[in-house]
Amino acid sequence: MSKLIELSCPKCLAVATSRTIFRCPACHCVLEVRTATDHLTSMDFAVMRASRDLSIWRWFDFFPVENRASVVSLGEGSTPLLYAKRLGEKIGIANLYLKNDTVLPTGSLKDRSNSVGMSVGKELGFATASVISTGNAAASVAAYAAAAGMQSVVMVPKGTAPSKIIQAHAYGATVIVVDGRFDYEVAELYKSAVAEFGWYDCLSSNPYRVGKKSYAYELVDQLNGALPDWVIHPTAGGTGILCMWQGFKELQALGWSERLPNLVAAQSEAAAPFVAAMTHGSRTIAAVDARETVAASIQVGNPSALGDRALAALRESQGTAVALSDGEILEAQALTARLAGIFAEPAAATSVAAAKKMRENASIDGDAVVVCHLTGHGLKQPEAIQLADHFTPIAPTLAALSEKLKRSANDVRP
Ligand SMILES: [Zn+2]
Repeated sequence: MSKLIELSCPKCLAVATSRTIFRCPACHCVLEVRTATDHLTSMDFAVMRASRDLSIWRWFDFFPVENRASVVSLGEGSTPLLYAKRLGEKIGIANLYLKNDTVLPTGSLKDRSNSVGMSVGKELGFATASVISTGNAAASVAAYAAAAGMQSVVMVPKGTAPSKIIQAHAYGATVIVVDGRFDYEVAELYKSAVAEFGWYDCLSSNPYRVGKKSYAYELVDQLNGALPDWVIHPTAGGTGILCMWQGFKELQALGWSERLPNLVAAQSEAAAPFVAAMTHGSRTIAAVDARETVAASIQVGNPSALGDRALAALRESQGTAVALSDGEILEAQALTARLAGIFAEPAAATSVAAAKKMRENASIDGDAVVVCHLTGHGLKQPEAIQLADHFTPIAPTLAALSEKLKRSANDVRP
């Protein structure tokens, strides 16, 4: 049976006549993809849960890919959901869980989106995938293009540190450095280039990148049908919040889960348009000028493609958005590493920082079930950690070693 996949405009409800049009011709809104799932039964759910394929593709029926032969996978999905006892005790949340997406194939959550996105790109016959990014998205698009047998082009502004794009280069991406600013000249050139060269656009304006719905399926599976009270997600463009919410609602509509969690968008206070909109009770996101922040992967001030829809999802979930300072983020990064054994990048640690803050101001009860998404590996941005003189060599004597150990024991530990 072939799948029913429909692209339509969430605003004016126009139905797209081609699978390669990403925006509504009438109102320019990013189209929304729907995959019919109402034929699925609880037996199907049991089969999916029992599958030996632990990637997101055991949820194949929920994704807008027609043929399994099109699937581009690097084994993404089923990342550990870890009960974080010591970290939970520290921040006063007895049922704290960490969803460890640092172990995804390219080290970040982007793999969930790009596995689905690139599968559709391959199915539609595109030869080249493209993205503008200075970090995780570039690496992920490049890796999945490589796996799909497609070319990839990554555009970055002049001055981008080589360390940020070296992973994409390693996967074979053509990295184009442009003399201009990211949100202005580079973005403009990128848009023109996509139109001119017919590249497969892998930004959040691509409606097929719905792989983050898999968070919902995995959480329901891993918690054995139960649901967390709160799911906290580091948020930039809003794809994660929006897709996750769609996933939870699909499962509820099918009767595979009984209720819905409250979602939380964790942001850096240097780039917090969702927090501003929630605070002001606004129905739409107003762009802000993103300032420098240690949470580089979520330094997005204008989530124009999906922001309004993600905001609506946050509200519908009776969730909230929380802004964190760089100090709070780095503290959460250290706590997560030292008390839970996971080295997450600063942007990822905003989820733990938000949990801590919400517990402190009593927004979260001490016995609530809380899941924090850790969305990127700490090795992506090791320079975020300021080193003191811990690595100064000692003389090769027991006396010097004893002295050093004594001094280290006096260091402040969480
Ligand atoms: Zn429209």
